[in-house]
Amino acid sequence: MCYYPIPFAYAKNIFEIELNFYKKLGIKYLLMDLDNTLDSYLAEEPTERAIIFISKLKENGITPIIISNNKGPRVKKYSECLGINYLPKSGKPFSSKIKKYMKENGINPNETIMVGDQLATDIKAAKGAGIKNILVDKIVEEDQKVTKFNRFFEKPFRKRMAKKNRLIDWRTIYGEM
Ligand SMILES: [Mg+2]
Repeated sequence: MCYYPIPFAYAKNIFEIELNFYKKLGIKYLLMDLDNTLDSYLAEEPTERAIIFISKLKENGITPIIISNNKGPRVKKYSECLGINYLPKSGKPFSSKIKKYMKENGINPNETIMVGDQLATDIKAAKGAGIKNILVDKIVEEDQKVTKFNRFFEKPFRKRMAKKNRLIDWRTIYGEM
């Protein structure tokens, strides 16, 4: 049986999370999954929504970094349009490449959070790297084949987690801080 980690927090999407939530947590680095977290995997370039979101992060002193399992050229093109750093072929659910990246770039795990749409890859890798994490819903219907496969298995677990109140909305945590 697969093991699915419980995320630190849940959000409907990456765009609805107030930046003050990150500030209160002392977050300086936002590691973001790309496909179906920021944009569709079919989007070669960032949508306006993503562009505005990224510039808001930067204005608020939060460094956004794309952590994607997708191939180099796709991740490079997308990230360069946004003018942000990125780690392609990141090896999620494994965390060794992410840990190495953080170490090489002087990124303190305590000041870092990961946002992604999959428990089995994004949240698992974040936990392995010792960083906080937020699970989001997919933003579009289209998925790559491998993601479709993962999602099929993940779906009942997400439902059960929600039922057992293990998916805690970020607003709830924010309200208690
Ligand atoms: Mg994704």
